[in-house]
Amino acid sequence: MEREGLTINPAKTCQPIGAMYAALGIHGCLPHSHGSQGCCSYHRSTLTRHYKEPVMAATSSFTEGASVFGGQANLLQSVETIFSVYDPEVIAVHSTCLSETIGDDLQQITKKASDDGKIPEGKYVIYASTPSFVGSHVTGYANMVTGMAEQFAVSTGEKKDQVNIVAGWMEPSDMREIKDIAKVMGAKIVLFPDTSDVLDAPQTGKHEFYPKGGVTIDALRSTGDSKATVALGCMSAEPAAIALEKKCKVPFETVEIPIGLSATDRFIMALSKAAGVSVPAEITADRGRLVDVMADMEQYFHGKKVALFGDPDQLIPLVEFLLDLGMKPMHIVSGTPGLRFDKRMKEILERAPYANFKLGMGADMFLLHQWIKNEPVDLLIGNTYGKYIARDEDIPFVRFGFPILDRIGHSYFASVGYKGGLRILEKILGVLQDRQDRDALEEKFELVM
Ligand code: SF4
Repeated sequence: MEREGLTINPAKTCQPIGAMYAALGIHGCLPHSHGSQGCCSYHRSTLTRHYKEPVMAATSSFTEGASVFGGQANLLQSVETIFSVYDPEVIAVHSTCLSETIGDDLQQITKKASDDGKIPEGKYVIYASTPSFVGSHVTGYANMVTGMAEQFAVSTGEKKDQVNIVAGWMEPSDMREIKDIAKVMGAKIVLFPDTSDVLDAPQTGKHEFYPKGGVTIDALRSTGDSKATVALGCMSAEPAAIALEKKCKVPFETVEIPIGLSATDRFIMALSKAAGVSVPAEITADRGRLVDVMADMEQYFHGKKVALFGDPDQLIPLVEFLLDLGMKPMHIVSGTPGLRFDKRMKEILERAPYANFKLGMGADMFLLHQWIKNEPVDLLIGNTYGKYIARDEDIPFVRFGFPILDRIGHSYFASVGYKGGLRILEKILGVLQDRQDRDALEEKFELVM
């Protein structure tokens, strides 16, 4: 039945979660939620459950007074308290539905904090507007990363032999892999944000309030002098690259997050061009291994129908990878709206004219479930919330995206690059072959598949 004006189980979450996650990718940063305590608790608990790490964040702690008269006094007091008690290098403030509805102006309030001498020498307060009644967690992430570019990048007039890589929304493991790939290629990069060694920090027996990871403020300031920027994702990374180009004239190229074969090929070529380095044999060998497994296992993938839900910058390359594997992406939903997303996905889906695709309002989990009931699939890919559909319809399920609340692995094993492609392939193959084993007749139950 057609639905209008009603969302059931949205395939997205709220803007500040993305802003908080991005802010954790700056070294020594304390994210700050400008709103009520409930919002901050929800955002922290979702990130903590996804990463199995304690996520620290402060809040302006609105009560009735701030809700009526505005939150300026709360934020000014917060800035003073945070620097004196928690001593971060930077406070990254994001707004919430409530402070946006009141109309609090974060730029004006942070300027007042600076004018009033509440920001110690050498410390920073940055901000991003993240009203949750538009966009999604992906928009919030993009807004905070853009804030980093706008508020930190400086052009000294002297170019540096380095390339900025703006990380689209990806896991700490993926950010680590991007840095490893750049190292193998001999490309000097500044990756931002960078949550590796923040949300996947090792157990040392000692609690570190600010773990050693994260892009440093010096590195962020130097992005204005880089010779080029490669943005990973048209929705979560490109806005920051545009801001850098506007502010510091750093030219940029946007490619997809390197998930799967084709998107990784494009990323490697873009980085090679931007950094002026050639592609070493080690990378070519990794590519060869992925292509080899794709070819060897083709019979298990071919023609299998898949339903997916999640975020734009992951879905675009993932759907392309499924098509490269000979699979059939049948149903795709994402609660995140975006013209660039819509256009790019439709280009990719020219290879799959049978696919149902919906984004933004009404593209929810209920719709996905309806589509699956009408046209069943062999595989479901998406975040933890997909487990209800997978159980109801008895579909093999691969967890991918955000949030994953009931499994581990995403923080530690990369999904990007050729090695990450192998991991995705292994996960898909694992659930498909488990299903084949489970359903095989006794006489067809083979040791070697
Ligand atoms: S949707 Fe708005 S009110 Fe709800 S948690 Fe997010 S910011 Fe707070």
